[in-house]
Amino acid sequence: MSSCVESQTRTGATAVLGSGPVPWIAMYHSVGDCSDDPYRVTVSPARLDRQLRWLRGRRLRGVSVTELLAARARGAGHGLVGLTFDDGYADFLDNALPVLARWQCTATLFVLPGRLGGVNAWDPLGPRKPLLTADGIRRAAEAGVEIGSHGLTHVDLTRADDLVLKTETAESRALLEELTGRPVAGFCYPYGRADQRAVDAVREAGYGYACAIDPGGLYGPHALPRVYVGQNDVAVRLYLKHRLHRLRRRPVEGLR
Ligand SMILES: [Zn+2]
Repeated sequence: MSSCVESQTRTGATAVLGSGPVPWIAMYHSVGDCSDDPYRVTVSPARLDRQLRWLRGRRLRGVSVTELLAARARGAGHGLVGLTFDDGYADFLDNALPVLARWQCTATLFVLPGRLGGVNAWDPLGPRKPLLTADGIRRAAEAGVEIGSHGLTHVDLTRADDLVLKTETAESRALLEELTGRPVAGFCYPYGRADQRAVDAVREAGYGYACAIDPGGLYGPHALPRVYVGQNDVAVRLYLKHRLHRLRRRPVEGLR
């Protein structure tokens, strides 16, 4: 990469990410009964309630990733953290939305337009959980939740051929824009797995940002790290995750 392109990339990253520490974005999946949960992707509504109460008690408010990045870009990100819910489980409407509203929080919901009204068939173990229908996704959007794409069908993009990579990114975005009638800015890599080819495909599909889990050297607007938050995360652990995350990451100025 030439120094000119590199500098433009850095400037673009700073414009999207804002300056200062890496944005703190929590990763949730399902909200409901977590008694049979081998992948540990479920938190109970009561636990989510306690976690959001804890955040608010520390003068932090959970918002969608688009809202977080926009606030940081204008230097107003202090006190905001991102909240994301992957896979688009149907329990989001009844179990997560009321809790988010109680604590004046919003969130980004990453859904699979190739599995509308389906189940989490990509997980070989564990209970089948229903996914939102098109109508359910529209209801979440109307309630102020940002709808992002999690691909079409939950494919590991680092193993996808060129055609699959393009359809999972570009077609899922087009379908969701049609379904919601709103622009779709965010993407979330299935399994959190990204490589440079997947990052390039997501950017070319027109997304403004993308969430991973631990993107390492790929870090940037299209490979944002997230912190797993589970049923066992009570206040002290959440606090440590918040602190460690800020200490562990290099600032955006160091981005390559
Ligand atoms: Zn997922």
